[in-house]
Amino acid sequence: MQADLQSGKISCTSVLNKTLKTISEKKNLNVFLEVFEASAVEQAKKVDEKIKNKTAGKLAGVIVALKDNICYKGHKVSASSKILEGFESLYSSTVVERLLAQDAIIIGRTNCDEFAMGSSNENSAFGKVLNPLNEKYVPGGSSGGAAASVAADLAHVALGSDTGGSIRQPASFCGVVGFKPTYGRVSRWGLIAYASSFDQIGPITKTVEDAALVMEIIAGADEYDSTASQKPVPSYTNKSGNNGSTGSPTTKYKIAYLKDCIEANGLDPEVKKAVLNKLEEFKKQGHVVEAVDFPYLDFLVPVYYVLTTAEASSNLSRFDGVHYGYRTTKATDLESTYKKSRSEGFGKEVKRRIMLGTFVLSAGYYDAYYAKGQKVRKLLQQKTFDILKQYDFIVTPSTPGTAFEFGKNSADPIKMYLEDIFTVQANIAGVPAISVPCGNHTNGLPMGIQIMANYFEEGKLFEIASKV
Ligand code: GLN
Repeated sequence: MQADLQSGKISCTSVLNKTLKTISEKKNLNVFLEVFEASAVEQAKKVDEKIKNKTAGKLAGVIVALKDNICYKGHKVSASSKILEGFESLYSSTVVERLLAQDAIIIGRTNCDEFAMGSSNENSAFGKVLNPLNEKYVPGGSSGGAAASVAADLAHVALGSDTGGSIRQPASFCGVVGFKPTYGRVSRWGLIAYASSFDQIGPITKTVEDAALVMEIIAGADEYDSTASQKPVPSYTNKSGNNGSTGSPTTKYKIAYLKDCIEANGLDPEVKKAVLNKLEEFKKQGHVVEAVDFPYLDFLVPVYYVLTTAEASSNLSRFDGVHYGYRTTKATDLESTYKKSRSEGFGKEVKRRIMLGTFVLSAGYYDAYYAKGQKVRKLLQQKTFDILKQYDFIVTPSTPGTAFEFGKNSADPIKMYLEDIFTVQANIAGVPAISVPCGNHTNGLPMGIQIMANYFEEGKLFEIASKV
């Protein structure tokens, strides 16, 4: 598309108009909470001028959808929650600034699970998103709208956030590529926080190459986020060497796959077969593929939910009916303003997590849950790192099954939480991970393979992922 833009065959305005038309035709998917038509049209005109003057940036004409927890100055943002009703971003997130500086066109904000808490997009205060591949099924979550926007051609790229799989799981359910960077590779400035020591922003795209291109633009140090690494960002798209990878396209890698994941109860047999087939292909490409024990699978989800709810209970205390958005009309004093605004403004799952997080942090239980959770996190980090010292990559399925039908897991939060079993490891350890489509199930829905790499080895990860 960019070649056609440069040659003048098409214009940003024409690409945008076509996309706006598709968005209105596919409104029933409930992907966008708001389309930023006015600012997108204006930006498209500006970029068309720049293309004529040969001053356009690397993302000229690329249409980007934002998950509704990423701030864009002068535009509304709600984290798909009633509690942020009417709130407009006072500044743009660093990722948005960087995309705009490269002449991307921000098309709108996409529906998600409230405060990014969920795995099916059923926790949004603004209704569910339908999976564009089969509307009876969930698109995954929490970045469900983001993944659906790319799958349904409503954007070229979407930015999501991934705390425990929220980029990779919906990408896998919608048949697209989802990338979670190393913790600290992308600035979180302007991302509405869920669990700050886990959250990362990352791209959802149709191809691995597109994800690499977006990453080299949004990654890097940021004076507004002290957890953003100072490490220089290599060119992830440069195939002829300096792409941040230690190898080259012909390098033979050592790939570990986690036996415990492949043999896990509840793993769909077709997903298992698809992943094993890919591993076989890697072998044929000359890579070493070996099974590795990881007898800690049962600890991943509990540790994730103890620590993320603790962080969430703290992060979400700022939504108090005074500082932001929604305020109850039924308050009689300050305390009831807090209580009623929060009771009316937050949805059920968010309240469950605030209470759980408050509980694990409370005086009598802190050591038993929060402090213990931190110790187990450290252990899981170490065990993951031990494998990555010996192997270049760790492979697992992205999810235990394909997209499920609406309502299937809603009555049982534990069942829903177990959807995250393969994705949370990367967030607990802080390592980068990608989900790439790896064929279709007999139910017609796509399946995904997940690859993890060591800290800051995104270049290498893109290289192997492009071979899936
Ligand atoms: N499904 C996970 C959760 O509900 C992951 C969410 C995320 O990555 N934001 O917490």
